[in-house]
Amino acid sequence: MKAILRSPLWLQILVAIALAGLTGYLIGPQSPFDLAGSVFAANTIWWLDYIGDLFLQALKMIVVPLIAAAVITAVANMGKEHAFGRLGLKVIGLYALTTLFSVCTGLFFVNVIQPGDVPESVANALQGQSMSPEELEATVGQSTEEDIWGIFKRMIPANVLAAGSDNRALLALIVFCILFGFFLGQATQNDGVRAVRAAFDGLYEIMLRITDFVMKFAPIGVFGLVGETAAQVELQQLWSLVAYFFTVVASLGFHLFVTLPVLLVVIGRVKPWRHFAAMFPALLTAFSTSSSSATLPLTLECLQERAKVSPRVSNFTCPLGATINMDGTALYECVVVVFLAQVWGLELTLAQQFLVVILALLTSVGVAGVPSASLVAIVVILAAVGLPAEGIGIIFVFDRILDMMRTAVNVFSDSVVAVLVARTEGETDVLAQTVPAKA
Ligand code: ASP
Repeated sequence: MKAILRSPLWLQILVAIALAGLTGYLIGPQSPFDLAGSVFAANTIWWLDYIGDLFLQALKMIVVPLIAAAVITAVANMGKEHAFGRLGLKVIGLYALTTLFSVCTGLFFVNVIQPGDVPESVANALQGQSMSPEELEATVGQSTEEDIWGIFKRMIPANVLAAGSDNRALLALIVFCILFGFFLGQATQNDGVRAVRAAFDGLYEIMLRITDFVMKFAPIGVFGLVGETAAQVELQQLWSLVAYFFTVVASLGFHLFVTLPVLLVVIGRVKPWRHFAAMFPALLTAFSTSSSSATLPLTLECLQERAKVSPRVSNFTCPLGATINMDGTALYECVVVVFLAQVWGLELTLAQQFLVVILALLTSVGVAGVPSASLVAIVVILAAVGLPAEGIGIIFVFDRILDMMRTAVNVFSDSVVAVLVARTEGETDVLAQTVPAKA
């Protein structure tokens, strides 16, 4: 037991994921003991859900004060060296570049594999799995009414405290923190202003310690989160959607294992496998929680302690990236929309596919880093290309599993951009050595 507790965190999380998968298999629809639907299975799922929620809530608890402290201190320090504009442009440029690559990858794979090009009877059966308008409303919430302009309007908080208490409004909070940090750096540095800066520095230190503490419970929390999901997966349903599932996984895999590593080599001049090793605990957490925002504390910790990216760069780029840079999400949106068009027998013209690319790029900026958040964006894009939004009922069955994968890609892409920015800012320590065994 002691040996397990002393092993690195990533190994503990990995073991937890494996055990959770096994538990889900034993009590889920594939149960060899026919436990699915039994009281025992229902109780176990309830407990798994409860444990997972406790951990997720603890992670979310950290996010708002950590983001505020990290972004404000990072931007305030940049103001001093007049680096804000340069860094800001670099970050936004790289986010746009990686997301564009990912959307094009998705578009390529879905057009080559054509997962929705199925016999008419299968297409009819799939169309029959559409949600009713009421179910759709309940699944994606009020936001079905929202268009692309609405998403951008949400970036400016009407009330900062309200934005701080809503995990879907993190982008608005970050926009405020950037402004606050910028003018904190510009203001005359009198006693009052210095005290505010010192307070945010202190808050940041404290939040890092709380993060360390909460992460000690990660293996248990991950066991609950993954176990609950695994216990609900009906593998039989996979067969009708196997080509679609494969298309999403293959394109996410290409972006994760080919495109992003190439950028690390070409622009960052670092060894990609070192970066994978450094970010592994964060990737596992992203996979288990399906939330880039909840993973943010760990993303920052891995980047700073294991990849050796300076807090100056990572504290500015990552909170922003966790909310606006979503390569996996944009890719997924694109594949889903083209797939559904294929199921409906609608040949999307080049202009329409271009519209899908642009909308996937833009909406991925506004999508919150929480589970299943892309469904809202997919509804917006489906409406724009004239497809019934209720069609997301077809892909809903596998949304959670694919969410785990796309969230890991989202987080990895944020960390890659942080490395690229740090390297182009002359940071020579980044990924210079193998990571310490600790985390
Ligand atoms: N769950 C994703 C994230 O947190 C967002 C999404 O694609 O639904 O990054």
